Amino acid sequence: MKHFEHSEAASAKEAASAAGQGDALFIAGGTDLLGTLKDEILPTYPAKVIDLKTIGGMDGIEDKGDQIVIGSLAKLADVAEHEAVKAGCAALAEACAKAASPTIRHMGTIGGNICQMHRCWYFRTPDDRFHCKRKGGQYCPARLGDNRYHSIYGEQDGCYAVSSHDTAPALIALGATVVTTKREVSAEEFFKANGVRSNVLEDGEVVTEIKVPKVQKSAFQKFALRKSIDFPLVNCAAAQGSDGAVRVVLGGVYPAPVRSQAAEAEVVGGVSESSAAKAGDAAVADCQPMSKNAYKVEIARTLVKRTLSDLAG
Ligand SMILES: Cc1cc2nc3c(=O)[nH]c(=O)nc-3n(C[C@H](O)[C@H](O)[C@H](O)COP(=O)(O)OP(=O)(O)OC[C@H]3O[C@@H](n4cnc5c(N)ncnc54)[C@H](O)[C@@H]3O)c2cc1C
Repeated sequence: MKHFEHSEAASAKEAASAAGQGDALFIAGGTDLLGTLKDEILPTYPAKVIDLKTIGGMDGIEDKGDQIVIGSLAKLADVAEHEAVKAGCAALAEACAKAASPTIRHMGTIGGNICQMHRCWYFRTPDDRFHCKRKGGQYCPARLGDNRYHSIYGEQDGCYAVSSHDTAPALIALGATVVTTKREVSAEEFFKANGVRSNVLEDGEVVTEIKVPKVQKSAFQKFALRKSIDFPLVNCAAAQGSDGAVRVVLGGVYPAPVRSQAAEAEVVGGVSESSAAKAGDAAVADCQPMSKNAYKVEIARTLVKRTLSDLAG
């Protein structure tokens, strides 16, 4: 690990102004960031690491009637176990409960979860050995390399890595809003990958809270190779809003989460065993698997069907 300056922020505003432009990174639970610093995966090393954990009052989970407001420092374990989240935003509670391991869920925050970088073994190889497309390089090594865990919906800006946040599909399906020190942005817009970032944040922008509308019904499913401590190969969330409309979102399949309007169209008249199966087929109709990952298409098809069946049940 290289030398960096460490400071403790007293407020999100202070953290944002201390970050300046481009040479600083924020740390919350540190479960993702410390690995990237130790392995020196990024082309440029931060001069400063600004600790957000010292900011008071940014870890609350508040039931505000029609929505739940979650501070970005709330631990994944606390979100997973919160009664109002379980009742009104079940997909999110389930996504947090299924992320990582108990230890990581007790250290890792929801803000860190939505800001974690991509999981791709080329991107994450120590010492920036693969200076890939996502880091500003010339090509994506997964294109012709070992792409068994990569995108099945094609490339984004030449990159085939996948977004692997468990919370992202749930937040998009629930229609959540991410609040930062600069703006409010819908979860659907937030998770658009941007250089080495897995979201639209700019340098020095801090996520302060997430507003999640309560819904009658929502569900989340995750498929991973191991039952414990494993990133999603594919995950899926579905939610039915007060207007009856169903949103279906997949993760682990593209550099950003994929909302499937084709799947949603199949359940406009209601979710049944047969419409859920048709939605699964529709969700993967446009997939473009690579040389080693066609098996993920079947997983995505099945997860959409199972998640919608959970919603109906
Ligand atoms: C072994 C292992 C298994 C894992 N499994 C899973 C899994 O199954 N599912 C899953 O979703 N994740 C998984 N993770 C990823 C991750 O560690 C957790 O999701 C965790 O929630 C990250 O939160 P953190 O507070 O530790 O983030 P940190 O490591 O502190 O930060 C992560 C990133 O977010 C930025 N950041 C943090 N907070 C903010 C903020 N408020 N505003 C702006 N930027 C911010 C940091 O600068 C950094 O780039 C796993 C990690 C490990 C090491």
